[in-house]
Parts: sequence; C-alpha cells; structure tokens
Amino acid sequence: MDYRKELANYIFPEIKETIEDLEKRYPERELKEGAKVTRFAPSPTGFLHTGSLFTSLVAYKMAKDTGGIFYLRLEDTDTKREVEGSAELLIKQLHDFNIIPNEGYLGKTENGIYGPYVQSKRKNLYEIVIKGMLEKGLAYPCFLSEEDLKTLREEQTKNKEITGVYGKYAKYRDLDPELALKMIKEGKDYVIRFKSSGNHLNKIKCHDEIRGDLELTENDQDIVIYKSDGLPTYHFAHVVDDHFMRTNLVTRGEEWLSSLPIHLELFKALGFKAPKYAHLPVIMKLDNGNRRKLSKRKDKEASVDYFLKEGYEPQSLLVYLMTIVNSNYEDFIVTSKDYDLDHFKMSLKKMSLDGALFDNGKLDFYAKEILAKMKKEEIAKKAHNWANIYCPELKEFIEKDEARFKEILNIEREKKNPRKDYAKYSDIYPVIKFFDHDTFVKMCDETKFEFNENISKDVIKNFLNEYKNRGFALDLDENNWFNNVKEAASKCGFCVDNKLYKEDPSKWIGNTNDACEIIRIVVSLRKVTPNLFSIMKILGTDEINFRIEKAIQCL
Ligand code: GLU
Repeated sequence: MDYRKELANYIFPEIKETIEDLEKRYPERELKEGAKVTRFAPSPTGFLHTGSLFTSLVAYKMAKDTGGIFYLRLEDTDTKREVEGSAELLIKQLHDFNIIPNEGYLGKTENGIYGPYVQSKRKNLYEIVIKGMLEKGLAYPCFLSEEDLKTLREEQTKNKEITGVYGKYAKYRDLDPELALKMIKEGKDYVIRFKSSGNHLNKIKCHDEIRGDLELTENDQDIVIYKSDGLPTYHFAHVVDDHFMRTNLVTRGEEWLSSLPIHLELFKALGFKAPKYAHLPVIMKLDNGNRRKLSKRKDKEASVDYFLKEGYEPQSLLVYLMTIVNSNYEDFIVTSKDYDLDHFKMSLKKMSLDGALFDNGKLDFYAKEILAKMKKEEIAKKAHNWANIYCPELKEFIEKDEARFKEILNIEREKKNPRKDYAKYSDIYPVIKFFDHDTFVKMCDETKFEFNENISKDVIKNFLNEYKNRGFALDLDENNWFNNVKEAASKCGFCVDNKLYKEDPSKWIGNTNDACEIIRIVVSLRKVTPNLFSIMKILGTDEINFRIEKAIQCL
C-alpha cells in the first residue's frame, strides 16, 4: 500500500489533476528573444505605497523595453491583513500613473490565459501541486501546535541555535505516512510543510540581476507551504504562480532577498526552472540625520495618493523615480530634454544598491520642468481634471472663463525658457486667484497693499492717478506699454534713466522698478508675479481701473 498516495488522496480527495496537467494548461509563452515577463504582485492591504510604485515601474519598464509582458497578480492570501476596497484602489492608482498591465487582474475582471490572477482563486492549483509534493515525499503534514513551536523557539534561543523547524527539530518530517494519515483521520490539526534537503552550513551560489553573483546560506527550514486555513504561504504561492504564469524576471523589494534560497530550493524540488530575480533597494528618508525606510505612518510621501492629491503630474513622479532606478537617466534628460520614459532604456545593472533617499526638492525640480514644457491647452486640461476632484476653488475659477484660464497659464510659456512657477496643480490657484474680481475684493479685505515704505503714500497716489488718467496702453506692444509706464513715472518724479539713477539714488523718489512694483501690487496684491504686461492685458482696463481705485481708497 502506498501510504503517501493514500495520505495525499485523503487530504485532497477532489484533486484529480496533476502538475503535468498544469504544465499543459499553462504553456510556455511564445516570446521574442530577450523579452521579459514581469509582474507586479501587490497584497491588498491599503493604498499604493511609493515603494510599490517604484517596484511596479521597474517591472513595467523591463517588460516594455524588451517587448515582453507585464501582468498584475493580486496576492490576497493573508486574509487578516486585507483591507476592503484596496485592490480596486491599487489598480486605479496604477492607472493614474499610466502603468497599465498587459495582462492579469484588472479590478473586477481579468485578462489573460494564465489566470486566475488572484491568489485566493488559485486554491485548486496550489492543491494540485501540494498533492503532487505529498505523493513524492517533498512535503508532509506537520502536527506541531502553536504551543509546541513556542517552546521549540525558546529552547533554540536558549541554546543559541537558529530558530525554526529544520533538521532534528522537524519532528514530523519522517513520520510514517500511515501514522500521519491516522492522526489526520483522528482530527489532529496540521499544516503542510516543505521537506527541505538543505543544510545551513552550506552556501549556495545564486545571481541577482542588480547585485550580481551572490553566495547565500542554504535553506534547511521546513517552511509551511499550506496553512491550516487551507491557503498557501507567499513562499510557496509565488513559486507556483511565477512558474505557471511563465514569469521570467521577478522584480521585488530587497526584503525578500534573504528568502531567495528557500524559493530557489522550492523551484528545484518541483523541477521548475527558476526565473531571474532582481531585488530592488528600498526608498529611504533622511530623519534627523539618520536614514530610515519611508514609513507609511510618518511620511506623507510614502503614499502615492499624496502626490495625486497635491496634483503632481504622475509623469513627474515616474521621472523622478527613474532617476533613482538608473543614475544615467539624469544624463539622458540633460542632453535630450526628453521626459518621455518610453525613450529611455532602463538597465537593472545600473541600479544603485544603496537605498535611495527620497528627495522632494529633486522631484519638484523635474515636476516644474515637466509642467513648463506643456502647451497651454494640455496643462489647462490636466489642471481642470485635477481640480474637478481635488480643488473646488480652482474648478470654479476655470469654469468661469476657460479661455482666460488658458491665457493666464500661457504667460511666459511660449518663451525659450518658460517660467517654472508650478511643480503641481495645487500650486496654480494661490498664484492666479487674484485674477478673479470677487476673490481680489476678498483678498483686499484680508490683506494690505504692501507698498515700499520708503515711498510716501502721496507719491503713490499721485502716480496711480497719473497712470490711470493717461490709460494703460494695453493695445500697444510691450515696449510701448512700458514707455507709457515710464512716462507716467517720470512725470511723478521717478527716475526712468537707470544710469542716472545709479549715480545718486538718494536724489530720486524711486526708479522705474519702483513704479512697476506699485502697479504690480495694485493689480495683484503680490510683489512677485509673472510678466506684468500680460497680467494687465488679461485683466483689462476696467478691472485695472477698479483695482487702482481700490488701492487709492486704502492708502
Ligand atoms: N505580495 C508580495 C508583497 O507585496 C509580493 C512580493 C513579490 O513581488 O514577489 O511584498
């Protein structure tokens, strides 16, 4: 009597298929030379972490650059940590970043012939493989209780030994299958463990696509592969999934590197060809001079939601993350001024191994460049889309007069070196809200016109009246508009000849810059703005007259 078979049949009576059947059901992919099949395998435990966006970007790019496949698999076997709705949120956020899988779990549905792509729906597959392992003696039921494991751990710690279930401590690994069957029939609780043939005194050679050749301690732990709740563990499930989904490159966080020997041993025991592995560095943060991992709890930048809410153009964050992935990407940008990630070929070999520090300043630098490069229509449309969700004030502002909004965004945009005022869409409204009449009136109630205190109120009033009376020359070109400002200024005692002014500034009440500053403050309540002529043209004569009146009243 083959008790191993009997045992396997008793545990999995419904399972008729074999590993060989699965090999047929999920055929090798037909790929062109060098094409990578990669995946993003999130667990639905909350929002999309910036580190996960980084990982998914690498997987996505590796597939895209090689003409391969990037798919999404949902790893939801840890039911205790699952957060409702987070799977859909993750998919949506990936979409927001334009990281769109070719295949896999899509939210409510899925796409592809290597599914199901949700681990909780793959129970049957795991059971087929485990049944095969039981039959071959590669796995066994283990009856160690939580209490037994606790005692074992304490004893091992006391003896300064490696903890866990291995070697002589794997009490049930050589139990006669007939006896094991009897215990199961009697209702004893059990899990199924992998029967390791390794020894922790040995080293194994392995290769990481980023770190190169490595020597790691051989695995000898009889890890749990099938929990008492009937679900597989990550170690086992990912081996089965990556094999039958025909993944050839696993890109994942470096926290998994220490488990690589377990995974490689499982692949070998099952007779599966292991994929290549790339363990990605974690993103760090400088905290009081110390480096630490980006923390969900402490850092707003840990969640991609923060960037979406703030209105960072998703591409900006991706470009920034790519500078972390490959240091030569920055050289590429400097020479090409091209922010299209599709035009850059990423290389895992060029990835730095030190956890990269998240640098908000650098992100803003690229974010400003990217927004400054957009045409007015594009930035207006994207800002509008963002405002629809996140900023009712900006939405209202835009919808009052869309054409005007575009003109405002277009100020100094078409120049060789466009202005870089905005890193994110949330920067726009505070800068432009003064254009709105009602908002301007409200702002006047809340704040003062902060004129240069060295110029007397009478001089300012006099200048404003003069300027108002002669008109603003908005129908002329910028030079003539400026000449008109200068004439008004000169008439009121400002020096409009720079050379003369420099010789002895004390002789004058101010110069052309001072006069322009007065106008700027009157029309915008700000000392720094984009091009004044453009602002005034957009505001128009009536509105400027109103603002000058208002300022004169306040003086
Ligand atoms: N579900 C695992 C995690 O979220 C995936 C690791 C992997 O990519 O293999 O860490």
